[in-house]
Amino acid sequence: MGGAAMIPVRNPRSGEIDYSIQPASAEQVAAEAKRLRKAQPKWQALGASGRADVLRRWADAIEARTEDIVAPLSVDTGRLRIARIEVEGLPRSIRRWADRGPEIIAALDAKDRPSAFPGVSISTRHLPYPLFGAIAPWNFPVVLSTIDLIPALMAGCAAVVKPSEVTPRFLEPLKETIAAVPELERVLAFVLGGPETGQALIANVDYVCFTGSVATGRKVAEAAARAFIPANLELGGKDPMIVLASADPVQAARTALRASVVASGQACQSIERVYVARAIAQPFIDALVHEARACRLNHPKIREGEIGPFIFARQAETVQAQIDDARSRGARVLTGGTVERLGGGLYLRPTVIIDVTSDMAIMREETFGPVVPVVIFDDVEEAIAQANDSAFGLSAAVLAGSAAEAEAVGAHLEAGAVSINDGALTSMVWDAEKSGFKSSGLGPSRTGDQGLTRFFRTQALIRQNGPPMNLAAFAEDA
Ligand code: NAD
Repeated sequence: MGGAAMIPVRNPRSGEIDYSIQPASAEQVAAEAKRLRKAQPKWQALGASGRADVLRRWADAIEARTEDIVAPLSVDTGRLRIARIEVEGLPRSIRRWADRGPEIIAALDAKDRPSAFPGVSISTRHLPYPLFGAIAPWNFPVVLSTIDLIPALMAGCAAVVKPSEVTPRFLEPLKETIAAVPELERVLAFVLGGPETGQALIANVDYVCFTGSVATGRKVAEAAARAFIPANLELGGKDPMIVLASADPVQAARTALRASVVASGQACQSIERVYVARAIAQPFIDALVHEARACRLNHPKIREGEIGPFIFARQAETVQAQIDDARSRGARVLTGGTVERLGGGLYLRPTVIIDVTSDMAIMREETFGPVVPVVIFDDVEEAIAQANDSAFGLSAAVLAGSAAEAEAVGAHLEAGAVSINDGALTSMVWDAEKSGFKSSGLGPSRTGDQGLTRFFRTQALIRQNGPPMNLAAFAEDA
């Protein structure tokens, strides 16, 4: 058969190509889909608590192999602590859905009740989409390959997942945990590959969840439209943070920094624009620069520091180009600002930029790096207008002296989630429902109960309790 060319995988700390994957062909994806579809009815018939038990066994199997998964994930992402947080969070997430799922599912079906139409009663059943598919990005490879998968399995779907070809190494040990639970292995497949494999996945599933960039999201939505399946999209962001005059400037600076530069800014819900009230702007910026300079790179030791390498080399170029463009148009870089090549890896120290204007790429396009552009405002209405002046609407944040004051401003922000007196809380809090506004997403919430209920189709059972109508009832002379 030969198959498509191997895809090389780069190590973000050494810069070396030291791994490769064989992409799954369209035929292979179709064969997997066929196998999964065949097994799905039995999985559905297990019932919610039966599926929850199987999922709990998967959680146990993952826990027993935590370090085996952390190690390759850490190689692909160039960071250790966050890799561990990802892997340790997976069994917790599985157990959360296993505990909560049966209750949510039990509440879905509505018992027979009279219809407004005389003589008829109605009930509803909820049937899972038979085959669910997910396509994931490289920034949190384990979390984003499984966040939609777990509730889909809980719902009774069979599932096929395509992680990013940039960060595929966690899959080998994860597959062993799946093999340890045969009932699960029958309904869950992972396929590796790039865009072609992603397109093949869409052509074979009944519901697709995509996490990634807006540009790819559009291609996924187009392919899903051709296949007539729902596309649930979680895309990029340009999240604003508004810091009101009543906020403590030093604490606000620390919060802004963490929410912007954690994971080297390679997170969709990173704070990428800060609007600070003039009254506290100077102490805020001073503290931000001070805290940013205190950050250490995870180089040469992975076990030290806060800032890891860029996972995807091209991202470093994008970030540098945005900084250089801003600088050339009058922005001032107070700290950071230059990508460094260290031991083959690409790093950027936390970068604070002022004197930015709303027409600069750094204020309009997703940066996906540890960069904090700061704008000073005099009037909160103006800050709200600027925060909303974006093609994105993923999430936002407001810091103030009181929650009530922050909420009053947050209520005007066009974003699917607003962190009040903190930033980027959606990275940690998964039980609130939220939508992606504007170009940041499409479809129901992946978090909260809707994260599970979205995977059901509703079937109405409409019962005629009296005599059915005859055609005579519609005769023109009736
Ligand atoms: P990407 O869009 O380049 O790739 C994502 C996935 O899509 C990969 O698995 C890739 O192989 C696949 N793909 C590429 N072309 C395809 C095609 N034509 N058809 C089907 N699949 C295709 O994204 P990325 O660079 O890996 O990830 C970074 C992006 O993800 C950022 O924009 C970030 O904001 C976004 N993101 C969003 C969220 C969220 O929850 N909203 C979370 C994390 C990341």
